[in-house]
Amino acid sequence: MESLHERDRVGVQDAVLLDDFKSQPVFVENLRKRFKENLIYTYIGQVLVSVNPYKQLPIYGPSVIGEYQKVHLFEKPPHIYAITDSAYRSLTEESRNQCILISGESGSGKTEASKKVLEYVAAVSENKIELGKVKDKLLQSNPVLEAFGNAKTKRNNNSSRFGKYMDIQFDRMGNPSGGHILNYLLEKSRVIQQGPGERNFHIFYQLLEGIEDEYLYSLKLERKQEKYNYFGFRPNNGADAVNDAEQFKEVCAALDIMGITQREQAEIVAIIASILHLGNVMITEEEGEAILIHDIHIETAAKLLECDLNALKLALTQRTITAHGDSIRTPLNRELAVYARDALAKAIYERLFSWMVSRLNESLLPQNNNLISGTVMGILDIYGFEVFEKNSFEQFSINYCNEKLQQVFIELTLKSEQEEYLKEGIEWEKVEYFNNNVICNLIEERYKGIIALLDEECLRPGEPSDLTFLNKMCEHLSSHKHFVSHKKADSKMKKVIDRDEFMLIHYAGDVVYSVKGFIDKNKDLLFRDLREVMSETGNSITKSVFPKSELMSKKRPETAITQFKISLSHLMDILMSKEPSYIRCIKPNDFQKPGIFSENIVTHQVEYLGLMENLRVRRAGFAYRRLYEPFLKRYKSLCPTTWPYYNGTAKDGVQKLITHLGYNKEEYRMGKTKIFIRYARTLFKTEDAFQAKK
Ligand code: ADP
Ligand code: MG
Repeated sequence: MESLHERDRVGVQDAVLLDDFKSQPVFVENLRKRFKENLIYTYIGQVLVSVNPYKQLPIYGPSVIGEYQKVHLFEKPPHIYAITDSAYRSLTEESRNQCILISGESGSGKTEASKKVLEYVAAVSENKIELGKVKDKLLQSNPVLEAFGNAKTKRNNNSSRFGKYMDIQFDRMGNPSGGHILNYLLEKSRVIQQGPGERNFHIFYQLLEGIEDEYLYSLKLERKQEKYNYFGFRPNNGADAVNDAEQFKEVCAALDIMGITQREQAEIVAIIASILHLGNVMITEEEGEAILIHDIHIETAAKLLECDLNALKLALTQRTITAHGDSIRTPLNRELAVYARDALAKAIYERLFSWMVSRLNESLLPQNNNLISGTVMGILDIYGFEVFEKNSFEQFSINYCNEKLQQVFIELTLKSEQEEYLKEGIEWEKVEYFNNNVICNLIEERYKGIIALLDEECLRPGEPSDLTFLNKMCEHLSSHKHFVSHKKADSKMKKVIDRDEFMLIHYAGDVVYSVKGFIDKNKDLLFRDLREVMSETGNSITKSVFPKSELMSKKRPETAITQFKISLSHLMDILMSKEPSYIRCIKPNDFQKPGIFSENIVTHQVEYLGLMENLRVRRAGFAYRRLYEPFLKRYKSLCPTTWPYYNGTAKDGVQKLITHLGYNKEEYRMGKTKIFIRYARTLFKTEDAFQAKK
């Protein structure tokens, strides 16, 4: 606990102790003070807020891990190790499954945080050779996933373009025995296209830079990045190249550790190379029919995927339509053929990524089933609320996900508060909070939620269109309090809603979405002819990710958003069955630079992370609670009954102490093991008296 003077300078380490806990500027100012002092961590009760320092701070590593081991959460300054230790202890000592939910916008430090959690767990568990292997594998899964799932964006040079949930499984001794990874929504559009200054997934460059000359030659590739249509324009930057080459070696080493065979690795390389070639396949048009220019690229792509060249060419330029039992082939025009080619590249990559995850999972399976105690610690590293200038299907999906996570947060936080009150024998006090079920329903309700309307439009015969979808929403949802159409928008509103847009009032704020592309992205169409060709390739990975069974199935494949909805609902079940810890990451500026704390940017994130709402829920009852023993130990010198000699119970001692200090009835409650203090100022008075006496 800081002294009065220190509180002025470095703020408070737990925002529940802020006098004016309802004021957002006060909250942000507290973060700023701490950030300036390199204190990047702050609590909101059990929630850890982390502000990305963008520089290496001497606050990690084995010796610090040692310091945080087995001390109570609030004995030491806020730290990600403290949160992890407390979760780990609850897991090992009480066999309670844990999950650590990390959220924040791109570049805020989520992935780094998840690595710190893993590092801590790896360090505190015992180090036997067998276990070493499991730990290595858990740690080595990161470089692999990052090579295939991360890319340089404007916001983050190493931005994860997928959501990840990883379970670490523990044996009875509390040592990691295996793991399991679930992946969400890979941003596959990046395979064919990137924004200015951004890159494709790392693996493409790593391969081009890191592979030996001869191998590269056999793949018919060149190192020059300008050669590839699937790489957006970017100024050549030598510094990256060195890294890419080095990282390729690391990735290969990691693949070895993960038990991915040489043959599989060669197939992966062939797939990546084939995608680069596909991107360079030239398509022209004659009399409305697409023609592939016969060149080295289509030939090499076919060779690398080990599929029939003519079959591939046909599937890229024609489409088989089955009607009344007859199949007819109709030619595609150039636009559709380009669409088909790009869809193929994206699908191959996305499925390769999923294959990689399931392959990692195989190698993370616990070796010895007897050792499984059934306890797990899950780590969720997933995109936070997103709001850009233009928001589309992707932001809609991500923000939907965050609404669901908020639901989990509210339910689990209230539940654990209630449990604690019950356990401590304190009367429950009702917490006022905003229940976002109403927004979740707006999105996912059967028949008339946004997802249902979108799917209905996508599956409708005829020509589904974004605007018809928008009209349907306006028709069915216009009376909903959280849905705003351009018709409903009035001049008082802060945001302008265009004719092709709608606005949702999310729990964290208002977001305007453009419907453009919703239908296409949701349908996520890959022509059957192409899937057929892929299912017959000699490249065994490709063949296995385009199974024949998919073609046989009469069932229409689920739309993208419905698949996501299903996997989210699965994730919710996983999370709800566990004890949660929260890490909310914030980036202090848009330049990826240390030392700059931009109030605007932080305030925006505080809003969209719902931190004030977190604080309200947490602060509803008592600002502070502490076990009797440590409380008495610290403050006993303030009361003649407890100092210098006292030999009663801690609870009695605390009661005598606070009576002496003049706490009044409304200010506190006495639980079975803890004292609950309602206002921060009460505690601070005590603390300041203690500091003065020291
Ligand atoms: P996110 O996963 O939220 O997009 P990352 O975890 O990849 O963000 O972090 C982006 C960058 O910020 C990292 O590459 C690293 O340079 C820096 N960074 C993040 N967390 C820390 C930290 N705790 N200490 C130092 N640098 C950090
Ligand atoms: Mg990340």
